[in-house]
Amino acid sequence: MLDKAGAIQVVPPPDDLPLDRILPDEPLLLMGAGPVPVPQKVAIANSVVINHLGDTMSQVIGRVRLMSQYVFQTTSPHIIGVAGPGSAAMEMAVANLVWPGRKVLCINNGFFSSRLGEMAERCGGTVDRYDVPIGQAADPAEVEKFLQNGAYDVVTLVQGETSCTVWNRDLKIITRMAREHGVLSIVDAVCTLSTMPLEMDNWDVDVVVTGGQKGLASIPGVSLIAFSEHVWPVMMERNAPMEHWCLDVRLARQFWEEKGYHYTAPVSGIMAIHEALRLVCLETLEKRFERHTISSVALQQAIEAMGLELFVRPECRLNSVVGIKTPKGVDGKHILDVMSSVYGVEISGSFGLPIVRIGQMGEQCRAHNLFRALHAFGMSMKAAGASVDVPAAMATLENSLAVLDG
Ligand SMILES: *Cc1c(COP(=O)(O)O)cnc(C)c1O
Repeated sequence: MLDKAGAIQVVPPPDDLPLDRILPDEPLLLMGAGPVPVPQKVAIANSVVINHLGDTMSQVIGRVRLMSQYVFQTTSPHIIGVAGPGSAAMEMAVANLVWPGRKVLCINNGFFSSRLGEMAERCGGTVDRYDVPIGQAADPAEVEKFLQNGAYDVVTLVQGETSCTVWNRDLKIITRMAREHGVLSIVDAVCTLSTMPLEMDNWDVDVVVTGGQKGLASIPGVSLIAFSEHVWPVMMERNAPMEHWCLDVRLARQFWEEKGYHYTAPVSGIMAIHEALRLVCLETLEKRFERHTISSVALQQAIEAMGLELFVRPECRLNSVVGIKTPKGVDGKHILDVMSSVYGVEISGSFGLPIVRIGQMGEQCRAHNLFRALHAFGMSMKAAGASVDVPAAMATLENSLAVLDG
């Protein structure tokens, strides 16, 4: 680069700004739709770097796969990790099963389930969409109509649609129906895995996708996918060209199943997810589901006691992320700003809907975090001009959570 006088200029280093001057002195409590707070064991594991190949790493991978089989509830050995966000895992699932000529049914409950359809289109698939009305669960009878008329190869759906806080409560009916019709199912369980039942084998699910930073309470950037024994040969025997190199399951299995090299694995993130999985195994799924249900329902009751309305009807309301209607005349962004700047608690806005969202995944479902988040939320609602009864909400939370103490 030349300056005005024609002299050669080099790019100088910027002024120094240490990270601790960027980060707040006290970390904010993450009570949004992800990432979620990580347990200390996960945080410590995330600081470990070792050789990505060799005996130590392959022992860790072996344990990750074994523990994953429990968490996904599958006996399939085909557990594959991805260096990337939940979306990369979604893309791996789609890219390996969709190519030009393949027909895909995308069950669309909103932002994330729609993304699966977009990915399938980008892979050259022909995609039909069942657009479920916002705030409702997919209706198995509607899905059946599509399956009868469509000759689909793949159906994609989400267990919990984080964006509008809907739970597809009939997931297992839909995935079993898909298997009967000879259609492969891809289920996005990014925000739900280990927070509510998902029995991959029993429910005939072919692919379950999850991210690190939500239900599993690990770090963002390393994700897991489980493939059924039923779907595996479809990918191994594929003849269609595969444009993706990083996401090709046939290459990824060299690392995940054969102790070989694909790309340098995200060692630290795998250590973190190892610990996250181990904490799930120690707690047991049964107890973890119970903790999540009690905690989320208590929060929902408390918010109603405050005088606010929840976005989704109880029958298909997602417990992992709770959507709350912002009262008329109240600015959702204002609530979020006060919560973080005054109370040190972060929750999420939304993608266009008139709601704010509080996460109920992993450590977010602990009494001390709930009390702090609910108080901050109520006081910030007040500051934003809503008429809310904060003491009533706190009392309701206390009463509803009493069950957890026993
Ligand atoms: C967050 C989320 C995703 C996307 O995960 P990223 O890690 O942001 O790519 C996909 N599906 C659901 C249901 C989610 O909640």
